[in-house]
Amino acid sequence: MPIATVNPATEETLKTFDPLDAEQLEHRLAAADAAFRQYRDTSYDHRTDRLRAAAGLLDQERDEVAHTMTLEMGKPLRAAQAEVAKCVKCLRWYAEHGPDLLADEFPAADDVTDSGAVRARVRYLPLGPVLAVMPWNFPLWQVIRFAAPALLAGNVGLLKHASNVPQTALYVEDLFRRADFADGCFQTLLIGSGSVENVLRDPRVRAATLTGSEPAGRAVASVAGDTIKKTVLELGGSDPYLVLPSADLERAARVAVTARVQNNGQSCIAAKRFLVHTDVYEEFAERFVRGMRELTVGDPMDADTDVGPLVSEGGRQDLADLVEDARTRGASVLCGGGRPANRPTGWFYEPTVLTDLTPEMRIHQEEAFGPVASLYRVADLTEALRLANDTPFGLSSNVWTQDEEEQERCAHELEAGAVYFNGMTASHPGLPFGGVKRSGYGRELAGHGPREFCNVKTLWYG
Ligand code: NDP
Repeated sequence: MPIATVNPATEETLKTFDPLDAEQLEHRLAAADAAFRQYRDTSYDHRTDRLRAAAGLLDQERDEVAHTMTLEMGKPLRAAQAEVAKCVKCLRWYAEHGPDLLADEFPAADDVTDSGAVRARVRYLPLGPVLAVMPWNFPLWQVIRFAAPALLAGNVGLLKHASNVPQTALYVEDLFRRADFADGCFQTLLIGSGSVENVLRDPRVRAATLTGSEPAGRAVASVAGDTIKKTVLELGGSDPYLVLPSADLERAARVAVTARVQNNGQSCIAAKRFLVHTDVYEEFAERFVRGMRELTVGDPMDADTDVGPLVSEGGRQDLADLVEDARTRGASVLCGGGRPANRPTGWFYEPTVLTDLTPEMRIHQEEAFGPVASLYRVADLTEALRLANDTPFGLSSNVWTQDEEEQERCAHELEAGAVYFNGMTASHPGLPFGGVKRSGYGRELAGHGPREFCNVKTLWYG
């Protein structure tokens, strides 16, 4: 894939970039290694001052960065602005809470004595340069949610961003430089995915994190496994959205629309499968389909646009193929189901609701990365849980019920990294984020994120 900015709303190639050659890449890896040797000895005050400086700059530059993101990947401008604000919050959150999360820990006195020590403690120390392979869908957030905890812990970052968001990728490198992180602490590598293996095999690179598709995750994890390097993987999702009889149906249906079409439907934690109890199915379906129909699809730079284009021709085709497969096998299309007639240019797709779905349809098992919802009628909670777990993925999940016993059962039985009750999944710096099954492993954010890339060192004193 060429490294280029291509506007998904107009299909125009706006700017292309040459990938780094071997010499440039070597220079950057050497810089990361050299930077780490200095940076690992800096104090938390030094690091948090710089995280706060990065937050301040980003806050001031919000509109400009948001514009670049919308240009490169097509999310509505106001969603891009909200993404920048969330990144500012994340940088400040780690500046505020980070040092406490990585403070020395003291094992129980009994265990210290029993181990034969006079005293003992556990210290979190950085690993070294960490490679971050990142996707285009939240081009700033995915990077910042890796970078803030990594830099806090004393690691340095090497970003291999998706090839279609190079301007956002270069902006982040520049942001950290201007926030006074030393040269080499955070670098963007303009390279194609074919060069990732060599970078990861380099002994100076100590670990990797990847957010993206399953094939990309498998490729990176295989190389990391071969070289015994730690990885965190955040892959796809097909999150269930359960609606049970005690739900506030008006809110559940309204939030369902946002939960499905956020980021033009291209979010790993978007709700994708709506499992609705038969007693409230008709009312929910009527409200939900109406909400999906009323969305404004259009130019993502316009303030009143709800849904912009998909990121690429390939992305739209993949989605159209999933819908076609379901339709030919007997699914009903309650709304949408194709390109909007008034958008001949740009990779647009209509907000779509499918029902009468059966297990042999591809969409039953695969991730729909666009504004297409799968709507199922279920007889009871048992059937809802069975269907919810009938997927290779396990990222997040949403449950609408006021019944505490039902909530407890869902908390226990849903095979997912999170359950959001009476609301939609949204990440927050203070809450751990990640999945199970083929959605990946490891956790980002909260205290878990920075600790993933630390040497948890036991100190025993005799
Ligand atoms: P990819 O997984 O291909 O891209 C994500 C990142 O991984 C990019 O930086 C990409 O680089 C890199 N990459 C791709 N293949 C490899 C490889 N073999 N080795 C190392 N790095 C690699 O996502 P796509 O953009 O192709 O989207 C495809 C599907 O992935 C979507 O339809 C969706 O299902 C899922 N996805 C999930 C995301 C999430 O948030 N969990 C985000 C994006 C996609 P390059 O751009 O240079 O190819």
